[in-house]
Amino acid sequence: MADQESVAETQGGVPKHGMPVIAAIVPKDSTDRRVPVTPESARAFVLAGWTVRVPRGSGLGCGHADDEYEAVGALLCDEAELLAGADVALCVNMPSDSFVDSIPPGVIVAGFLDPFARPDRIAKLADRGVTSLALELVPRTTIAQSMDGLSSQASLAGYAAVVLAASRLTKALPMMSTPAGTIKPARVLVVGTGVAGLQAIATAVRLGARVMAYDVRPTAKEQVESLGAKFAKIDLGETGETSGGYAKELTEAQLDMQREQLTKLCAESDVIVTTAQIFGRPAPVIVTADMVRAMKPGSVVVDAAISTGGNVEVAKPGEEIEFAGVTVIGDPLLPSRVARDASQVLASNFVSLLMRVIDSDTKQLRDPANDEILSGVLLTHGGVVRDERVVKLIESPSVGGAR
Ligand code: NAD
Repeated sequence: MADQESVAETQGGVPKHGMPVIAAIVPKDSTDRRVPVTPESARAFVLAGWTVRVPRGSGLGCGHADDEYEAVGALLCDEAELLAGADVALCVNMPSDSFVDSIPPGVIVAGFLDPFARPDRIAKLADRGVTSLALELVPRTTIAQSMDGLSSQASLAGYAAVVLAASRLTKALPMMSTPAGTIKPARVLVVGTGVAGLQAIATAVRLGARVMAYDVRPTAKEQVESLGAKFAKIDLGETGETSGGYAKELTEAQLDMQREQLTKLCAESDVIVTTAQIFGRPAPVIVTADMVRAMKPGSVVVDAAISTGGNVEVAKPGEEIEFAGVTVIGDPLLPSRVARDASQVLASNFVSLLMRVIDSDTKQLRDPANDEILSGVLLTHGGVVRDERVVKLIESPSVGGAR
């Protein structure tokens, strides 16, 4: 565990003068329209005396023009000058290898750094002497809620998944009584009822669908029912949760039982949204090709767990395919479909995180030893990878992280 002294040493030994300079990394070629800094969050940093640099035109994808940033005191710049003199660089996703090569040692990088899927890049950050904070590692505790980027983005992903499914479905979601007859409500099945799944349920219920949901954590039943959905009863023997509230990985035999018992429910569903993930591990395959085949033609499946490998056997990352007459969508960037709101809450997560972990006067990280949140999110520092799980993946890549 690094102490305050070693934290200071790796950032040049002497505290720098003035307030921190923050740079927003927004790759020009990215298909993700979210940004790590919005005009609203830039205002919060500027009011605290920090300097904010934003590449020109970078907010356009989520509806923020350059003059909105300028109006709150952020500085617009060209990409080439973004990192010069920066103390902190914020990114939505892990930057490319070539961008990582351009990050000056000592800069603190924060964002979704995909530590379990791309441990090689994390090793590279450490080798370059870059300090990094991974949003994926924010503890899921009440005190860390305002910094919890996984939750803020998962909520929007759950919403976007249902809206996307509704837009592709060949039938309406709500029941409708018309003079020409009654239209039955669509049946929606949500698999995995964490943050994304609960929001998917709430959205589908609001749209009038008849919703069924399932999770391996028995505690999820009450939450599902409180949203007006039915909880599917599937007996798998002992399942369980980690101390952090995450689901434990099922055995292959349990997964087989789960698929068998879910088959009938899938066949009856017009829409399936899957969101089941296992922290730090590849997502379990829950909906097999045969289960999709058993659905009615014109049905829709959205695999919202595709960024960690996916729950649907036939889903492909970044693609919308037809499989046996069923539309199967594997969109790893669901929050980007509502980029303005997703950016707003993510940028707010960054403000809370940085205000907590960086000392404005010294521009240094605070002492991680005394801070449960900082010690959780600090991924690389002082040339080393600090998360043991990521270290193991770097040493034996064949073990396989989340993807
Ligand atoms: P996640 O994205 O890791 O997984 C989504 C859901 O999939 C989870 O509910 C999980 O139980 C479920 N799942 C995994 N394997 C499954 C399988 N084979 N079949 C069906 N479902 C399966 O989860 P998350 O949304 O990040 O939430 C994880 C936990 O953390 C939840 O209990 C959530 O309530 C809790 N949480 C707490 C806080 C907080 O206290 N601040 C914040 C966010 C989340």
